Amino acid sequence: MATAASSFLNPIAAELEGVGPKPTAKALARRARQRRQILVMIGASYLIDAALLMIYAYAGTIPATIGPAFAVCGLIFVVGSIALSELGFNERFRDHYLVAPQSIINMVIMLAFIWIAPEVGVMFLCTLFVVFSFSSLRSTPQQTAMVWTAMAFGLAALFLLTDKPIAMPHGSYIERFATMTVFILTIGRCMFIGIFSSAMRQSLYKSGVDLKEAYKRIEELSELDDLTGSLNRRCIMGVLDEEIARAHRNQAPFSVALIDLDWFKRINDTYGHPTGDEVLRTFAITVFANVRPIDKFGRYGGEEFLLLLPDTSDEGAARILDRLRAIIADLDWSAFSPGMQVTISAGVATLKPNETPDIILARADSALYAAKARGRNRIASA
Ligand code: GH3
Ligand code: MG
Ligand code: MG
Repeated sequence: MATAASSFLNPIAAELEGVGPKPTAKALARRARQRRQILVMIGASYLIDAALLMIYAYAGTIPATIGPAFAVCGLIFVVGSIALSELGFNERFRDHYLVAPQSIINMVIMLAFIWIAPEVGVMFLCTLFVVFSFSSLRSTPQQTAMVWTAMAFGLAALFLLTDKPIAMPHGSYIERFATMTVFILTIGRCMFIGIFSSAMRQSLYKSGVDLKEAYKRIEELSELDDLTGSLNRRCIMGVLDEEIARAHRNQAPFSVALIDLDWFKRINDTYGHPTGDEVLRTFAITVFANVRPIDKFGRYGGEEFLLLLPDTSDEGAARILDRLRAIIADLDWSAFSPGMQVTISAGVATLKPNETPDIILARADSALYAAKARGRNRIASA
């Protein structure tokens, strides 16, 4: 019941089921099971109402045939709907619960019985309101407007075209008991709808939260470089723009460092590309472990990385980078392969007034070039 309720009431999940690839056999079986559960519930509801009609018949209000006739109509509707559902007919439609057609069929049955047994007509009216309220939970606004308008016309026709008194008998004790039960049952069904709709709100809220989390995760994934886990080029360039704008606004010092691994082609050639990848990963982890949380680190391309150092003067940046350089050079790289040595060179530049991201990057690049020219495994400041 819980699964039927949550699917019946969760339009987002249902919409998502409707898009993308065709539902799998398992999904189709699950949907058929959920429809069956709802239809069995409707069948049970018909039988309960038929039992109440039998009480009215016992009180002499209506003929004894009305109750069984109502049960038979309800069961024909339910069994027919289950048969169509099991044959996969419902899957041809976007709304596989066929809420609108089923509401209309139920309406026709109820209006017919109000016409046949007007002495207890209010009972069918109550059921009609409950059926339509329940179906509105799963309908589109257009469907809701359509079925309620159809009901208004149906009722108008019934009231205008017949002169039968549509009543709710309470003359005898048994009639009063049956009528009381009808109203209590209606209250119970309304309560059920209320509980269902609050389940829908919760389910929708949860879907919203899940979607938000999934979206956040996708965003995170698209910000990171697969190999090293550092920010990818697009992201680090965006962060560079933001940090430079902020530094200008706050007139705070800001430095950038372009870091390049030395003789990396040689490392690949000597130890193989997979080992080269491991070296890049280890380098990135080492940087992360040795910078401040406010520093931003991203892959600029290949074996070249960009480190952004907010609130950092030229001296501070040179100190940080030289410390990083020493840590990398001192790492025990022989764990990857005996005799392996890895060093980095970096060009450091500190933001000047009104300087743009392009200019500061160009200065950092020139400084890196100078560091390489001076023999590598060193830091140069622009
Ligand atoms: P230099 O000291 O002048 O920087 O020399 P270098 O060999 O590091 O520079 P070069 O630009 O000649 O070579 C860079 C190499 O980095 C070549 C390229 O195959 C390698 N590389 C780039 N991206 C990756 C990667 O994702 N994984 C691996 N294993 N190697 C990469
Ligand atoms: Mg290099
Ligand atoms: Mg390079």
